[in-house]
Amino acid sequence: MMAKVRALWRTVQTAIERLDSKLYFVAIRRGLALPLPLIMVGAFTLLIRFPPSAGIRAFLLEAFGPRLDAFCDSVLAGTFGIGSLVAMYGFAETLTTLHNQRLGHRQVNPTIAAMVVMSCFFTALGPVSGASLFVSLSLGQGLFGALIVASIGGSLFLKLCGVRHLRIPIGNFGNDPLVSDVFTVIPAASLTILTFAALKAMLHGLNWPSLPETISSSIGAPLPTLANSLSFCIGYEAASQFLWLFGIHGPNALHVVQQHVLEPAASANVAALAAGARPPFIFTFDFFSAFARMGGSGGTLSLLLALLVVSRTARQRKLALLMLLPALFNVNEPLLFGLPLVLNPTYAVPFVLAPLVQALIAYAAIGAHLMPRLGHSIAWTTPALYSGYAVTGSLAGTLVQLLCLAAGALVYAPFVRIADTLAAKKTRQVLASLLRMAEAPEAAFKTKRFLELPGNEGRMAVVLANDLKEAMKAGEQIFLEFQPQIDTQTGRIFGAEALLRWQHPTVGRIAPPIVVTLADDTGQTEVLGLHILSLACRQRAGWRGIVSDDFVIAVNLSPRQLLEREFHRRVIEILERESLSPSLLELEITEYAALLPEANVLDNLKQLRDAGVKVALDDFGMGHTSLHYLREFPLDTVKIDKSLADVTAGSINEHIVRSIADLSRTLDLSLVVEGVENELQLKRLRTLGCHRFQGYFFSFPLAPDVCAQFVAGRNGQTSCANP
Ligand code: C2E
Ligand code: CA
Ligand code: CA
Repeated sequence: MMAKVRALWRTVQTAIERLDSKLYFVAIRRGLALPLPLIMVGAFTLLIRFPPSAGIRAFLLEAFGPRLDAFCDSVLAGTFGIGSLVAMYGFAETLTTLHNQRLGHRQVNPTIAAMVVMSCFFTALGPVSGASLFVSLSLGQGLFGALIVASIGGSLFLKLCGVRHLRIPIGNFGNDPLVSDVFTVIPAASLTILTFAALKAMLHGLNWPSLPETISSSIGAPLPTLANSLSFCIGYEAASQFLWLFGIHGPNALHVVQQHVLEPAASANVAALAAGARPPFIFTFDFFSAFARMGGSGGTLSLLLALLVVSRTARQRKLALLMLLPALFNVNEPLLFGLPLVLNPTYAVPFVLAPLVQALIAYAAIGAHLMPRLGHSIAWTTPALYSGYAVTGSLAGTLVQLLCLAAGALVYAPFVRIADTLAAKKTRQVLASLLRMAEAPEAAFKTKRFLELPGNEGRMAVVLANDLKEAMKAGEQIFLEFQPQIDTQTGRIFGAEALLRWQHPTVGRIAPPIVVTLADDTGQTEVLGLHILSLACRQRAGWRGIVSDDFVIAVNLSPRQLLEREFHRRVIEILERESLSPSLLELEITEYAALLPEANVLDNLKQLRDAGVKVALDDFGMGHTSLHYLREFPLDTVKIDKSLADVTAGSINEHIVRSIADLSRTLDLSLVVEGVENELQLKRLRTLGCHRFQGYFFSFPLAPDVCAQFVAGRNGQTSCANP
């Protein structure tokens, strides 16, 4: 049984993942996310314009005067009023960017595509004379049409741009790439716009209303004929939620139902109650507002509760907290678009299901006479829990609302977990891809490797790069761990390698090669590098008396650190500050440092070595390492790469390791093998002439105090380390 549930769970996750990565889904989601700042401002203005009670309205008018409404209306026009336009722009831009990404080159300029799509929208659906421009373009009314035009127009334009004969060959337009981009696509753009003009003329000729109008009226038409019954309740609420999922304001699209069924029912109930009679109807507009749409469409207050209680992502919980206030007044646009919830396949099921469950609970409570029928009208911004009391005139209303909230949260909870799992998986994939790129051999020579990457990798890199700046200022997120190095001939731990750690507050551990690349990309190589050196040297100074006097601390260098002419001076300054002998510091460089064609690199290394600092060649034997570095470079130690630690008898690795061991003996270099994970490897490596090791078999990288205890315990010294 459990196995079946788990299999079903996995199937749901895979289906959601697949849907979520579809081109149109991504484009619509980003299109809907773009107007978020406008939606936030608009939502609060809406609250002021239509406050929950007449008292608040009177107070606001008293305080701000009659100009308040005009002020609010102009803010609403500039925010909600152009929401569809902005969403359409975001959609076309994303669609084109993704299209270019698929092609592997920039075929179409995304800004031009957005302009063409907007032109199509105004050509086909421009406001009819007399209708308000802002209403036509608002999120409530215009979004559906905007998305339809953007999908059809955007796809058509991109298709036409791909037709060779429709592309004007790029000439010399003053070397401005945008001008060339525009000229190239003039035929495709013109054809796309003219297609929409022809479409409009055709519909007009046939006397047809516009496409969105046709769809919304055909959905709403059969409903007013239904009786005010339970099947009506389910049908109406499901249809309204379903429309929202496609970015269409459900209750607005179904205003026919509201007009013909719900409002008359509400008036009849109010009149009956005033006459001392029992209200005749169960389902009124307020019934849905107060019990099934708490927090706004989709019962989103329940989603917020579920996020706050079960989400494992701090970012989601923060977002939920931020949305709590507007949602309390049933303004949920920021949430709908902010998660973004509309068109988020993870939340599609509970978004439709939660309000249905809530409506059924309220219906059952009325049926069981636990709560009176609704006989009072309220403003739609009346906050949840109070609204239950206000519409029923009974505290039972509030209690039923509490029950509805809890039930809704239970419906949302498993999907919050799925969303968390999917988001975490995506983050892991993006980090793994960044790590692969950071570790690629050619990466060492590129500049701006991460920040300009397309897609999720580039976005994640930009976020992390900004966070890294903050983390370096704050301090505690960035620290070092130390991995002991052991000499099996003496049985002593002779040193430890300092390894960089960044514990990101939301993403978790970020692999050091990613951190180093981010620092390189943002010009922080030097600052980060010196910070790491200071931390390591301070730690070594703190271990005085705990570890042996000749215990060496090894620190990794990014090749670029050696390009800085004064680098050697900075290192000596740090050693002097900590009163540390230079011979207790070993700097690990890779062959890529040697490949940098700068005189500063060799000069820095020579100066440091003359001062007594040790130098190790890291990752030796990997990539295109050449044995001549061992002669050319001022070195003390060679570290054999962990990819060579796997030595089976007669393998190629065995031969390589043996010859490196021989050579290092001849050149009088210390040899350390990295990545030793088991006893078998250790035994073989020892027979090949290796005696110094580092690897999980001996110890993982450790926190400083744990490392000190480990060393003291192993070397037979008493530990007086800080616990
Ligand atoms: P590296 O210098 O070769 O460091 C050794 C890496 O191997 C470490 O990974 C260590 O945790 C891992 N390791 C140790 N023993 C074993 C083992 O037995 N098996 C396996 N599979 N792995 C083992 P880590 O800490 O993730 O660091 C990765 C790389 O990041 C380092 O490779 C180094 O190139 C770079 N790095 C780390 N810290 C710094 C730093 O402070 N500065 C710079 N520039 N680079 C750093
Ligand atoms: Ca290293
Ligand atoms: Ca290494």
